[in-house]
Amino acid sequence: MNVTDPPETALAVDTSIPFWRRAISLPQSSGLPETTLGASAGIGQPVPSLLLVDDDPATIQVLAHMLAGLGHLRFALSAADALNLAHESVPDVVLVDAEMPGMNGFDFCATMKADPDLAEVPVIFVSGHGHVETEVACFAVGAADFIRKPPAAEVVVARVRTQLRLKALSDALRREALVDGLTGLANRRRFDDQLRIECDRALRSGEPLSLLMIDVDHFKRFNDRYGHPAGDACLRGVAIAIQGLVSRPADLVARYGGEEFVMLLPQTKASGATHLGDLVVKAVEALRIAHDVSPSGPVVTVSVGVATTLCSADGGCTPASPAALVNAADQAMYTAKATGRGQSCTYVPSSAIAHLSYNI
Ligand SMILES: [Mg+2]
Repeated sequence: MNVTDPPETALAVDTSIPFWRRAISLPQSSGLPETTLGASAGIGQPVPSLLLVDDDPATIQVLAHMLAGLGHLRFALSAADALNLAHESVPDVVLVDAEMPGMNGFDFCATMKADPDLAEVPVIFVSGHGHVETEVACFAVGAADFIRKPPAAEVVVARVRTQLRLKALSDALRREALVDGLTGLANRRRFDDQLRIECDRALRSGEPLSLLMIDVDHFKRFNDRYGHPAGDACLRGVAIAIQGLVSRPADLVARYGGEEFVMLLPQTKASGATHLGDLVVKAVEALRIAHDVSPSGPVVTVSVGVATTLCSADGGCTPASPAALVNAADQAMYTAKATGRGQSCTYVPSSAIAHLSYNI
C-alpha cells in the first residue's frame, strides 16, 4: 500500500515511522485558527487524546487536518492496530470507519464496549453509508455519534468537541464517585473494589498483602466536647498524616467509614506492615490535636490493627478472602483498643490450630 504523509503541519515529527503510527501533540499555541483550537484542555488540564481509524489513508489525512489542535492525535489503518494503540494508552475519543477489511468498525466498537478498560471511550463512526439502517447499527453496537462521509470540517470538530466535553464530565463524575468528600482520600467503594483486585492478585502470585485498620480513639467524646466541625478537621488531619506515610503507587489509603481508615499494602510482609502500623500511631500522636476528655491521654490517638495474607507453598492463603482479611485486621484493631488504645496490634494466624493470637 502506498501511504503518503499528511500535508505539512509545521510540527516536528519523527519521519522514520509511518504517519499513522505517529503520535502528534499540538501545543495550544499551534498557530491554527481559533475555531480549531481545543476547547477541552485549558491550562493545567490534560490534552485530550484522539484515535483515528480508517483503512483509507486519505480519509485519515483529511480528518487529521480537521482535528489538529483538538489534542494528541494517533492513527491506525486497521481495527487490530487501533485496539493495540488504545491499550497502550486509552484515548478520549475514537473516530472509526464503518467499512474496513478484517475487523470492521462495528466489531471494533463492540470489542471496545466489551472491554472494561476501553468501554467508556466514545466511538464516533465515520461512514459513507447514508442509510438509516447503517446509522442505527452503529448506535446498536455502542456508537456515541455518526458522521457521514465526506466529512465537513465544522461538523467533525463540533461533534468531536461535544464528545470530548462529555467524556471529561463523565471521567470527573467517575473520579468523584470514588473519593471521600470530607478527607479527599479514596472512599469505601474504591477500597472495596481495590481490595477484591489485590486479594485476587495475592492469591495468584502468592505475594503477601497487608491491611491496616485504623480507628480514631474516643472520637464520639471528641465530637461531643469540641463539636462536629472540629471533628471533621480532626479527621482531615489524620487523613493527611497517614496518607503522608505511603508513597508507592499501589498502596491505597481510604476512609473506611466514620472515624475508621484503612491502608491496603500490596507486596508487603507482616513485618513491614507492623512497622507501618507503629508509624501511623506516632504520626497521629505527633499532630498534637488536643483531646482533654480522652481517657487515653491529652491528644487524639488511633488504634491500629494489622493483618497480612500468608501463602504457603501448596497454594493456600490465610486469610484467603477480602472479608477474612478485613475481619483479621478488625480483630487486631479491637485487641489494640481492648489493651489500652493508642497502639498497633498485628494479627497472627495459627497454621496448626484454629486459634488467634496477637503480637502487641
Ligand atoms: Mg473503509
